[in-house]
Amino acid sequence: MLSLNDTICAPATLPGTGAITLIRVSGPETFAVTDRVFRCSRGSVKDASGYSVLFGVIIDEASVQDKVVDEVLVSVFRAPHSYTGEDSVEISCHASAYIASRVLELLCAAGARLAEPGEFTRRAFVNGKMDLAQAEAVADVISSSSSASHRVAMTQLKGGYSAELSSIREALVEITSLLELELDFSEEEVEFADRNRLRSLLVSASGRVRALADSFRLGNAIKNGVPVAIVGEPNVGKSTLLNALVGDDRALVSDIAGTTRDSIEEHVTLDGVDFRFIDTAGLRESSELVEKMGMDRTWKMLFEADIVLAVVDATASPAASSAFLKKLTDRMDFECQQLVILVNKTDCNKNVNDINNFVSSIGSQSVVLDISALTGAGLPQLRETLASLVRAHFQGSSESILVTNARHHEALRLAADSLDAALASLSSGVPSDLIAQDLRTALYHLGTITGAVSNDEVLGVIFSRFCIGK
Ligand code: GDP
Repeated sequence: MLSLNDTICAPATLPGTGAITLIRVSGPETFAVTDRVFRCSRGSVKDASGYSVLFGVIIDEASVQDKVVDEVLVSVFRAPHSYTGEDSVEISCHASAYIASRVLELLCAAGARLAEPGEFTRRAFVNGKMDLAQAEAVADVISSSSSASHRVAMTQLKGGYSAELSSIREALVEITSLLELELDFSEEEVEFADRNRLRSLLVSASGRVRALADSFRLGNAIKNGVPVAIVGEPNVGKSTLLNALVGDDRALVSDIAGTTRDSIEEHVTLDGVDFRFIDTAGLRESSELVEKMGMDRTWKMLFEADIVLAVVDATASPAASSAFLKKLTDRMDFECQQLVILVNKTDCNKNVNDINNFVSSIGSQSVVLDISALTGAGLPQLRETLASLVRAHFQGSSESILVTNARHHEALRLAADSLDAALASLSSGVPSDLIAQDLRTALYHLGTITGAVSNDEVLGVIFSRFCIGK
């Protein structure tokens, strides 16, 4: 089993890139280990105060020729005022893979060992510096690639999400203790807990858990890119549109119907939000096997997309476009998907009025835009529409309750199911001990998110996904 009582070291930056490499050391022997390899005219690390920085050299006493490995800065952090909560130092050396490996070798020879992936953050969790949800947010903050995903991760890192979870847990603990009090007096058949009050507490708690679970779709989209499917019959201009949005010639454009057989994915950041555009194979009944396979995947991707861009061709027959849109809208889930109908090739100016007439007959749940993927006309409006659709989503949900982690989502779903079972039991007059059991199950699942309930195996799995040095 992993020991959390020894002293560990690892590079916190990628050695060999940038100007500086940062090497972290943490654990009870940090200062003694560092003093064995570091010389400073102002004194030893052991005597330095917390939050101070020492300038000096890393020395290899065993080397005959080059005793000085590098000139470095050592930042000193005294427990508990450090990232891990332990005595720690951060050694800033010059960014050379050679220097970094020499410094790490010397630290290990002086009594430290190389850290496992995520071990610094794991220690921060074990020492109560952050809960599990915050520890996982550290990884998200580091990997955030757009301002929206950064905002969500920072909210979690600051503990907004954890505060909501612990408030829900408190409410559930209160309900459970009311029920368990009854159990203690079950012989006397007393009902301490007012059933109506219990029900309303439970309805409120379960609603909050469901809201968190449901926020995963948007949270996940913000973290990994809002999935936007570009669908349409062959040759309507889907690939041309994707190229125009992305700005290069990545997707294959061709005059032959059915050439974009597989899907192509591209990320574009609009208004601070990462969008994941998926160009799908032509949605057309085809007897050809490969095309068919591509099309099965198309329907699956369509189902997963938050926004569907349905491209129709202004120069094609409105009846065919209408039939396609009908088939598409039949399969969409308007509860959680947005439809944007793009009437493309409007530069050719054929049948535009007809198309607009039939599009307006489809209903009010969609946005309709006239565009030309070839000339770029209408694309600024399309970009603005996409950004505003996501903004509308944001306004509908408080950012502090966006769940972005699949493990949390699963735990929330299980907790919500247990709460629903408890509610059903309450309505049908099931004995209090069975209701209390469902509540305890819900509490258990919520506890796994923040780490109030955890075991070594689960922690091992979570932190092994981190990089070394985090
Ligand atoms: P896909 O099969 O839907 O991906 O269609 P492509 O993007 O391969 O385009 C099919 C053909 O339509 C190509 O010759 C494109 O140059 C042409 N095309 C695409 N968009 C426009 C447009 O806005 N105007 C005109 N005139 N032609 C277009």
